[in-house]
Amino acid sequence: RAKAAGRSTHYFFTDDLDKAVQESLLIESELRVALREYQFQLFYQPQIDLKTGKLFGFEALIRWNHPERGMVSPAIFIPVAEQSGLIVELGEWVLAEASMFIARLNHRYNENYTVAVNLSARQFKDKSVAKVIKSSIINARIKPEWLDIEITESMLMGDINEALHQLDDIKALGVQMSIDDFGTGYSSLSYLKKFPVDTLKVDRAFIKDIPDDTDDMAISDAIIALAHKLNMKVIAEGVETAEHVEFLVQNHCQIGQGYLFSQPIDEESLYKFIDNSTKPYMHLFEKPTAIK
Ligand code: C2E
Ligand code: MG
Ligand code: MG
Ligand code: MG
Repeated sequence: RAKAAGRSTHYFFTDDLDKAVQESLLIESELRVALREYQFQLFYQPQIDLKTGKLFGFEALIRWNHPERGMVSPAIFIPVAEQSGLIVELGEWVLAEASMFIARLNHRYNENYTVAVNLSARQFKDKSVAKVIKSSIINARIKPEWLDIEITESMLMGDINEALHQLDDIKALGVQMSIDDFGTGYSSLSYLKKFPVDTLKVDRAFIKDIPDDTDDMAISDAIIALAHKLNMKVIAEGVETAEHVEFLVQNHCQIGQGYLFSQPIDEESLYKFIDNSTKPYMHLFEKPTAIK
């Protein structure tokens, strides 16, 4: 193959690319099997009211329980599913599964917890996405407002009118809508007010170095203020420390999600999480009791 020594790097590079292509083809064929054999599972990460410490809701996060590889990260297989088109089927499964979970959760506790579901770019572009969301709501007999549809800023770029049309179609179902990873994309602020969005999720990248990075604090503060001025809620992602909570409370961010409260967990663990009144982070919220 690489006849001229001078070109060996070129061939090496090609081999690497081949490997990457082969790897994604392998994942793609395994994904088809996985869909048939129910190897996927939803985990749920709690979102906490930062004023009271009370549970606000959850984000559903997909897991692939691969028979040989073990748990495969969505960061690896979602892009492959997206590029092969399998995401449409996988996304339908996620919506149906999350909706049935919401029904069990809110009936069990007689509550109105919201559960956020991530939509991929390809799903969002699909003209039938609102219909798909609607049928999962109807099948599970849930209130539409219990479902929160997460999209990212990048999905709102390109044809703004097309995106707006899709958003309006979805919003008309009565669901909530959030912009995920906010601040990392390039959405035009002038359009933000036109989008029927309820919540901005501050990306973990801006939270992780608080309170050491004053630039990140300025950015987080600005996103929180922007959301409130536009009458939106704010959820901070990647809340890992008491300092994060302190900063967010000071800057009036209502909701936090992150490892400080809990990693994403399965349904059984989640019921234990809710039932366990002595949660390890609760001391952060305990109001000082009045001296008698
Ligand atoms: P995302 O929607 O931004 O989800 C948040 C990610 O941050 C999750 O990773 C979560 O486990 C992780 N995370 C939460 N709190 C912390 C923290 O305190 N520290 C750190 N270091 N990480 C934290 P995960 O579950 O691996 O998901 C990665 C991404 O995969 C998600 O990012 C989302 O874009 C995508 N994804 C996950 N589930 C689905 C799905 O059902 N459909 C689609 N289309 N995408 C999904
Ligand atoms: Mg998300
Ligand atoms: Mg996110
Ligand atoms: Mg993220």
